[in-house]
Amino acid sequence: MIKKECQTCHNQFTIIDQEIDFLKKLDFPLPTDCPKCRKEKREKLVDKPFYEEVKCDNCKKEILIWHKVEPNKQIFCRECFRKLKHEGKLDRPQPGYKEGIPFFEQLKELHKQTPIVGTDIYQDDEVNQKTLRSHECSYTTNTIDSFDLSKCVNTVNSQHLINANNCVDCTNSMATENSVGLVSSYRCNNCSYLNSCFVCDNCHYCDNCEDCQNCFACSGLRNKKYYVFNKKYSEKEYKAKVKELSRLPHNELIETIKNFKNTLPLPESRRHQNINDCKYTNEVFNCNGCFYAFESRNVNNSGYLWHSEAIKNSWDITTMARRVNDSYSCSDMSYVENCYFSSRLFDSSNCYFSHDLYKCYNCFGCVGNSNAKYNILNKEYSQEDYNKIVAQIRDEIGLHYSEE
Ligand SMILES: [Zn+2]
Ligand SMILES: [Zn+2]
Repeated sequence: MIKKECQTCHNQFTIIDQEIDFLKKLDFPLPTDCPKCRKEKREKLVDKPFYEEVKCDNCKKEILIWHKVEPNKQIFCRECFRKLKHEGKLDRPQPGYKEGIPFFEQLKELHKQTPIVGTDIYQDDEVNQKTLRSHECSYTTNTIDSFDLSKCVNTVNSQHLINANNCVDCTNSMATENSVGLVSSYRCNNCSYLNSCFVCDNCHYCDNCEDCQNCFACSGLRNKKYYVFNKKYSEKEYKAKVKELSRLPHNELIETIKNFKNTLPLPESRRHQNINDCKYTNEVFNCNGCFYAFESRNVNNSGYLWHSEAIKNSWDITTMARRVNDSYSCSDMSYVENCYFSSRLFDSSNCYFSHDLYKCYNCFGCVGNSNAKYNILNKEYSQEDYNKIVAQIRDEIGLHYSEE
């Protein structure tokens, strides 16, 4: 165990042996900041929810952006971005590494010069003629440019959605489809008005339910089918009952459900379920060998985690990280392995200091790349040159284990 003073807030913090071993294995230096300051810095890399309507630099169509953008940054609609890229007219810098200029200065410049793609503003007739806005809906389908939010059309006022489709008023939802009114729910399909539900199908007005199908106005159920007001029905009875309830005016329905739920004993706390060998955790489920983890699920041998799911052997992981293995200091990423100091990555591995990557392997200091390998500052190198330059940059920035 090592005690240090945080270089940002000057509070004392402790680095535990498990974390030291992890960093030694990666040959990374000990952190200079306390966990809280580290988290805040990571969160700055993935901006807080934010919208702005801007015009595409090419066709002048109105689009939405969800990053704060520096003045003079190029912004395109999806269509123009693809078209310009295809025609080779997209001015996307691929500078590569230049010796003699500090690496982080070069990376900052690359961030500044890389154009971004805005989101189309959709008009959908089916949902009350509202203008629907996709927001923070990265990593959608298996399409090539997956950051283009193509599967998130018809998503309204949503935040942090993954694989979302036809969702309305969703918050922190994962892999949801045809859903409305989900709050903190994960992998739910064809559901509406759920609160804190996980892996449910065709459920409506339920809260705190898990692995349920065809449930209506239920609370705290696990692995149930055809339940209404926490009572079991046959499929036929269920359908009739739901039909009957659905005929009620919405306010009346909500009031009836509320009255029913008030009769239930307080649901068993979901906090600290199925936890082994963990220290300093809260609102975590199904975790083993975790240290300092909050609002996270299915985590093994990891530490300093917030709002993350299915994380293995990783430290310092924040905000909507899913399926992350052997990674360090990352935010907002899914299906990644061996990624470090990076944010908004999808289906990528061995990436460092990178942002907004899709299907990239061995990328160091890259921005907005897709299907790239052995890239440094967005330029492709041979595997041999890549390894040589990465070693050189790691020396330059002091990215080696050190207890200083
Ligand atoms: Zn601090
Ligand atoms: Zn355009």
